Amino acid sequence: MDNRFECVPCAICGQQNAELLMKGSGPACVVRCRNDGLLYQSPRPKAAIIREKLKTFVRPDNLELFSGYRRAMLRREARAIQQLKPGGSLLDIGCATGTLFEFFQGSGWRLHGVDTSQTGVELAARQYRAEVFCGTLQEARYPCRSFDVVSILDTLFYDPQPDRELLDIRRLLKDDGLLALEIPGHTYRMMRERGPLCWLLNRRWVRGFANSGHLYFFSPHTIRLLLANAGFHVVRVVPEQASMSMGNWGLVLNHLHFAAARLLFGLTAGRLSIAGKELYLAVKAAADGDADGS
Ligand SMILES: [Zn+2]
Repeated sequence: MDNRFECVPCAICGQQNAELLMKGSGPACVVRCRNDGLLYQSPRPKAAIIREKLKTFVRPDNLELFSGYRRAMLRREARAIQQLKPGGSLLDIGCATGTLFEFFQGSGWRLHGVDTSQTGVELAARQYRAEVFCGTLQEARYPCRSFDVVSILDTLFYDPQPDRELLDIRRLLKDDGLLALEIPGHTYRMMRERGPLCWLLNRRWVRGFANSGHLYFFSPHTIRLLLANAGFHVVRVVPEQASMSMGNWGLVLNHLHFAAARLLFGLTAGRLSIAGKELYLAVKAAADGDADGS
């Protein structure tokens, strides 16, 4: 195998007991863990290569990706967070250009951001007067129990070790703190990757999701397992809109799809979700073990 790639164990059970789901072009594949059903990339590029690539994820020529179409979603997500936490200190992991901070101005919020992109953190600091760190969460070395809210929006699936990232977040949250985690909607994602919807949107029957750059494809079942392993209890799930970087007809379809997804989610109390994204709001589990070692 190409020595820039490696096989990795499942982030939930820690074992390498997976079956092939889809081959990518090159060594990358998506596999399914036989123990718990987690879908993830393996083999995948080595962690150091992934981290190096993420440093240029936000660039002067793609800033619109992190502000334009995301703004409406982030406004709704900020509202959902503030319904549970009306003020305090917020850390946004993968803050990119800091658009989320736009909805936490005033009212006593102290804003912090982490991102591996220098372009992103410079803009976030300048536009929103946030305290930012350029690097990974581990490199930032924040003290334990520093934050009332930690958000990680549309980002966790890029992390080579999401299990460790969640443990670190738990350590950084105050005891009554809130985690806000946005991930792609699993059913929607799978429908877009192959089959009729894939053809309709991409004019091909299968998309190359083994080469999409996403390292994990969380389902409602597997994200809850991962969160529980890290000592989190989910208190609310909010359906969100799919990405909107598409033409006019695509936008109309996107809005119609979001309206239908919200209706279905509400009617089934969240058991059926076809939403493009989902926001998980979670607190430290009641049986507060020593997962944070402090
Ligand atoms: Zn597993």
